[in-house]
Amino acid sequence: MADEKHVRGMNVSPKEGRLIVDALILVDIQNDFMPGGALPVPDGDAVVAAANALIPGFGLVVATQDWHPSDHGSFAVNHEGYEVGDVIDLVGEQQILWPAHCVQGTPGASFHSALDVAGIDHVTRKGTDPGVDSYSAFFDNAHRRSTGLEDFLRARDVGRVVICGLATDYCVKFTALDAVDLGLDVTVLVSGCRAVNIAPGDGDRALDEMRDAGCRLVRTLLT
Ligand SMILES: [Zn+2]
Repeated sequence: MADEKHVRGMNVSPKEGRLIVDALILVDIQNDFMPGGALPVPDGDAVVAAANALIPGFGLVVATQDWHPSDHGSFAVNHEGYEVGDVIDLVGEQQILWPAHCVQGTPGASFHSALDVAGIDHVTRKGTDPGVDSYSAFFDNAHRRSTGLEDFLRARDVGRVVICGLATDYCVKFTALDAVDLGLDVTVLVSGCRAVNIAPGDGDRALDEMRDAGCRLVRTLLT
């Protein structure tokens, strides 16, 4: 599935007279997405070791947190008569309804306890607007509002990003696709991602979409 390619984990390199900085983006490595959590991703805790192994190789590490108010529109419990898995229209976007998860300030919204949080330089919180979901680390699902991550990366001359985390078929995918759209060089570490796979094959299809959009898919980062 993934192309095996050699990718340097260096932090900066000269390109067109400027330094291009690599950043690592860790997507939603939070308790509620772990086995036993409110919205568990199968084998989701496997990404923690992968993330910890990557962190020391990057001068800039960003982590995202799904960070919902309790009245968030993506929660089935907030829509009378609807159940988890139903699809509704939310500000013109098709929205799958999820179990309540990653509610601001709750243990479920915290990073996995084994994640090397001391190595994280910046946290981007998303999904804070009750009216719209935000799978991507960059924009809400309606693409109306930026999370600020683009400005943060541009201010630091980031040209390349390596992405891993949860889940392949939602937040990793939309983060990677937006990053490509923003002109970043995007590598997705497949071995550091896990999929929800509500429909069998969703994760693989997401990887295909990312590759077709121009993302580099790798299983290891060799230095
Ligand atoms: Zn969410």
